[in-house]
Amino acid sequence: MYADLHLHTNFSDGTYSPEELVAQAARNSLSAMALTDHDTVEGCARTSEACRTAGIEFIVGTELTAEQDENEIHILGYLIDLENPRFRTEISRFQQVRQNRIHEMAARLNAIGISLTAEDVFALANCRSPGRPHVARALVKAGFCSSLDQAFERFLKKNRPAWVPKFKMSAAIAIELIHHAGGVAVMAHPGLNRTDDVIPGMVEAGLDGIECFHTKHSTHMTEHYLELAEQHGLLVTGGSDCHGLSKGKPLIGTIRVPYEYVERLKARAASRRAAPKAPAADFAAP
Ligand SMILES: [Zn+2]
Ligand SMILES: [Zn+2]
Repeated sequence: MYADLHLHTNFSDGTYSPEELVAQAARNSLSAMALTDHDTVEGCARTSEACRTAGIEFIVGTELTAEQDENEIHILGYLIDLENPRFRTEISRFQQVRQNRIHEMAARLNAIGISLTAEDVFALANCRSPGRPHVARALVKAGFCSSLDQAFERFLKKNRPAWVPKFKMSAAIAIELIHHAGGVAVMAHPGLNRTDDVIPGMVEAGLDGIECFHTKHSTHMTEHYLELAEQHGLLVTGGSDCHGLSKGKPLIGTIRVPYEYVERLKARAASRRAAPKAPAADFAAP
């Protein structure tokens, strides 16, 4: 039994709908899958439903954008309670920040004579969590660029004319928020960061795990992070980080994580939910 614990749909910057993604998971014989769209959990209900029909175990998830020591860090939040009021409030705040950023990017494009509107981007993104890939697609669609790469190269990369710095919460706050909602916090693709120096600080902030298996990790990197996980007593996860067809070939199926890692993840979430705020239950017992 295998799982993929890092997947995106068109509720963030992936191209697959939840149903298409689940169909791909079924084609790849996955037993379990997590949806980890950026700063949103909007796609979870439909993905969960499609998984139920396909006989695949669904793991609720999200990928929060955060910051540790001035490095952008992605933190995967698994098995969070989607009804948690504070989590819902915070996530809609991040989405608002993302939408404001699109407005600002459009304004900067307009200032250099590119007549793209934020509404063009929103219409194409059709989700609450729009980002630069959607702006790139809108630029290509409107004929301002011939490819997504060109759109990034000319306008959207750091320090290019339409680049707008991204607001990021601190990693400690992201971890605390995930825990508050009963979830498990895992650092995504550590091999894509320039440094491991950020890890001890995050462990201190309560990080539960690191994503050791990832499409962009070499065998050497994977071994390194497995070792690091053991050193720090962290859970191990992994996933393909499939964005559908947006980056060429779909990646789903390239990373197959043994199901035992899913079991450990679930055990951690269960113990987290059982441990805190228990006194009321103790006294309620006859
Ligand atoms: Zn990421
Ligand atoms: Zn991702």
